[in-house]
Amino acid sequence: MLRIILWGLALILLTLNILIFSGVMPLDNIQVVEEKTNTKLAEPYNQTPEATESKNAQFFVPILMYHYIKDYNNPSDPLGVQLSVSPATLEKQFELIKILGYQPITLQDFAAKKYTNNSIILTFDDGYIDHYTNALPLLQKYNYRASFFIVSSFVGRSGYMNANQIQELVDAGMEVGGHSISHKNLASLSFEDAIYDISTSIRNRELVFAYPSGKYSEQTLDIVSSLGIVASVTTNLGVATEKSNLQELPRIRVKEYTDLTKRINEEIAIAKSTLKPSQRSKD
Ligand SMILES: [Zn+2]
Repeated sequence: MLRIILWGLALILLTLNILIFSGVMPLDNIQVVEEKTNTKLAEPYNQTPEATESKNAQFFVPILMYHYIKDYNNPSDPLGVQLSVSPATLEKQFELIKILGYQPITLQDFAAKKYTNNSIILTFDDGYIDHYTNALPLLQKYNYRASFFIVSSFVGRSGYMNANQIQELVDAGMEVGGHSISHKNLASLSFEDAIYDISTSIRNRELVFAYPSGKYSEQTLDIVSSLGIVASVTTNLGVATEKSNLQELPRIRVKEYTDLTKRINEEIAIAKSTLKPSQRSKD
């Protein structure tokens, strides 16, 4: 019954969106409050479901999470530094991925079960300009596909990609999904505001989504499912398996000094329950 009501409301709101939303983006000055290490989720999603669900899984697919791809070492901005990986390091990691035998796939591939134990997913959040200037050339050099999540009202702002650059990502075979209108905590929004936000941000995009700052609620999960979104990524730590909820996919955070092989192996070991989550590396 609830699902039928949600579908009805989703349809009405989508129609209203199309009528009302005439390309005028909200021009508020909300800053990106970025994903922090201690992800806080709304009840009852305060645990990593994969830790218990994945014991009997056969496929383990790491989903790597990147933010800025730039050389950045500003002591007065430790969060920015934490969220940055230099282009030189990204290239080393891409080379390592090749040496380890991984082949990057998209989230839509994952949702369609087009994965093997050699699959990996590369994700880039927030639509920063350096995704176009620094990540795209490397992806093309290695012939890798990746998933980019765009904050729709930030498109064209200083420091972010514009619509033409995003189109170039699409033309290069990249998957480009939604990441909300202005990076608000979706779990704190009313049903109407949340469905407006998510449906607007995926317009003309692939049906994949990343929760801003990794925050979501049961209501958010219902909305993404009812909008037809096939896969959503969180900031919950872990590897995706065939047992994962497609709307709650975990990721591995990558920083400048992340030992990628070690982190991937740790998360696979945790998913196989041979390691406790507390034994993962501190980075
Ligand atoms: Zn984000």
